[in-house]
Amino acid sequence: MSDPITCPECEGAGGRRLGRLRIACPFCQGRGWVGGEHEPAEPAPAPAGPPPAGEHRIWSDPAAAAALGCRLCLGAKAVAHLDETTRTLVMVPCACPPPGDLSASA
Ligand SMILES: [Zn+2]
Ligand SMILES: [Zn+2]
Repeated sequence: MSDPITCPECEGAGGRRLGRLRIACPFCQGRGWVGGEHEPAEPAPAPAGPPPAGEHRIWSDPAAAAALGCRLCLGAKAVAHLDETTRTLVMVPCACPPPGDLSASA
């Protein structure tokens, strides 16, 4: 960790303007300075994005999990899959555990 300094990439501006948009400087992540707690070499923890659907906290609620059924297809018995080779979205059968086996995998 070092003393905070003005960002050398954006010279403290924190980013640049693109029309009406403000593009945050990727080096200082829009702060306009680096160092201290925000060492570029030690990237800040990734922003807490939404967790994968199968790890959503709703699954810790047994009643909700039972009502929704399969975590992947939510009971639709099919999941959308992007075929990288053909660049098409296909529906593939879900590998749902048989009914009654849901709790066994928890
Ligand atoms: Zn910057
Ligand atoms: Zn399923």
